[in-house]
Amino acid sequence: MTGSAYDFDPAIHAAALKGALRGLVELDRFDAASLQQVLRRHPRGGTGFFSKSELIRGFRQFAGELGLEMSELEFTERIRMKPIRTASGVAPVTVLTRPWPCPGTCVFCPSDVRMPKSYLADEPGAQRAAQHRFDPYRQTLSRLLTYHHTGHPTGKAELIILGGTWSSYPESYQIWFVKRCLEAMNDFHDRVEAGADSLAQFPAEDDFEPAARVDGRTMEHSYNELVKNRLRAQDASRERARWEQLCFAQRRNESSAVRCVGLVVETRPDHLTRDEVLRMRRLGATKVQIGIQSLSDRVLTLNRRGHDVAATRRAMRLLRAAGFKIHAHWMPNLYGSSPEADVEDFQRLFADSDFRPDELKIYPCSLIESAELMQIYERGDWRPYDHHELLHVLTACMRLAPEYCRLTRIIRDIPGTDIVVGNRSTNFRQIARRRLDEDGAACRDIRSREIRHRPVQAARLRYRRVDYATSVGQEHFLQYVTPEDRLVGFLRLSLPNPPVAIEEIEASAMIREVHVYGRMVEPGNRRRGRSQHIGVGRRLIEQACRIASRAGFADLAVISSIGTRDYYRELGFEDGDLYQHRALETG
Ligand code: SF4
Repeated sequence: MTGSAYDFDPAIHAAALKGALRGLVELDRFDAASLQQVLRRHPRGGTGFFSKSELIRGFRQFAGELGLEMSELEFTERIRMKPIRTASGVAPVTVLTRPWPCPGTCVFCPSDVRMPKSYLADEPGAQRAAQHRFDPYRQTLSRLLTYHHTGHPTGKAELIILGGTWSSYPESYQIWFVKRCLEAMNDFHDRVEAGADSLAQFPAEDDFEPAARVDGRTMEHSYNELVKNRLRAQDASRERARWEQLCFAQRRNESSAVRCVGLVVETRPDHLTRDEVLRMRRLGATKVQIGIQSLSDRVLTLNRRGHDVAATRRAMRLLRAAGFKIHAHWMPNLYGSSPEADVEDFQRLFADSDFRPDELKIYPCSLIESAELMQIYERGDWRPYDHHELLHVLTACMRLAPEYCRLTRIIRDIPGTDIVVGNRSTNFRQIARRRLDEDGAACRDIRSREIRHRPVQAARLRYRRVDYATSVGQEHFLQYVTPEDRLVGFLRLSLPNPPVAIEEIEASAMIREVHVYGRMVEPGNRRRGRSQHIGVGRRLIEQACRIASRAGFADLAVISSIGTRDYYRELGFEDGDLYQHRALETG
């Protein structure tokens, strides 16, 4: 990693850096022109300009010595000329598991044997994972370092584990993977304090041999065959751990400077059993990404998904009963579908109480060379939607999305070079939004309404509640919104009907999610007007207690993450085996 911003040593440029820092802090009026002026007056190495991340690193090193009266956060915001916001208030740390055989045979799925199934080697996140040889420790550390170097707080991290079908990896690998991610979080602060802030200090980059090619047209060797051969040649014996080792890392993380406030895994509906759901919970998972793809058995069969809609119903019920947040993946333009059928399928996703996901990634099917879909395309039996068809489907989805769902993606960010034919625009959300505006229509999903970095006035907040039925009972979506309908915080409360198959929560109401938007604030860095510190989370939890109590529940459980256990203890929750609980007054 030589030559990267991470190898920058502020001490070597001390004189110029100190001059630039003083100049920047003392400016009365700050804009792009004044920033350039200061940087020109204090060049890096006599000729070049300091980058923003270099200035932040210089600030960390010299602010105390120079007596600069500005916090790191204020300085970072100043030179970036915008408020620092980590999406939705939490720093996402996305990591990929190693390539592994997948039980699915989906015709649309890429087969890049350098990657876990369904990922492509030149997708940005995938590239990073390969650079670190899919080592969870180094992947986590490198993401945290990137946030640190760009001035983003790292106190709360959501760990998003991607890669094929999580449930098909051996249990010992799953435990090891999560344990190593948590260990990276637990070690991060001390390592940075000790000056270990360079990726160059970690083992060398990948030594992947060139991958054998999978050609979807001929499919001489399947992804699974090639990956199995490779696994045989590798020693994966170190990639194992035991539950007690994971528990130790989890306990340390409860009070770590970088806390894991959410843990996400992705899997297939037919791999979700009661035991699997409980295992995910023991690992600390709070959200599951689940590939639904279609609610038509005919389309699922044509695309060789290997499961039917009934499996999706069962999986959603299991996840919901266990309190997980459900992040579904759904694909328009599959082989055998049509724009009209897709819009109907999307309507069913929310009309049918067995589905109703909390979050949704819409991934219109793309044609990738290594996918079996190539054969179907070359036979002339499938084609990608043209721009107008795609726009029609996506704007309809945006209009139909209910306010309790978050449309996290409406297009998959696949590099254009990987797409054989079809849409290559990755900014389809903006295109669709423009069309909605022109039509005078609106998208009311969570993402469209988030407050983000806008100032919040506590006194003007309004409480609103949306109730809907699910396959396990009644769901209440509690929200605090501004008069302009900007979403400041929400809570998902589930009131299940008996029987619930998990003993610990068989008589519990369940908080499935509490989410408060706004700046992520670290302890000791509280700022006025930001939504996380006007008690929105507490107010939502008190509302949930009242609703559950009135409905006759004597216990309110929460599917807390490792890093939020302390927060819930402060609010009167006690630790159970897999959940935390608060006793409620009834009658
Ligand atoms: S289950 Fe997922 S990862 Fe596996 S082949 Fe199907 S789409 Fe690809």
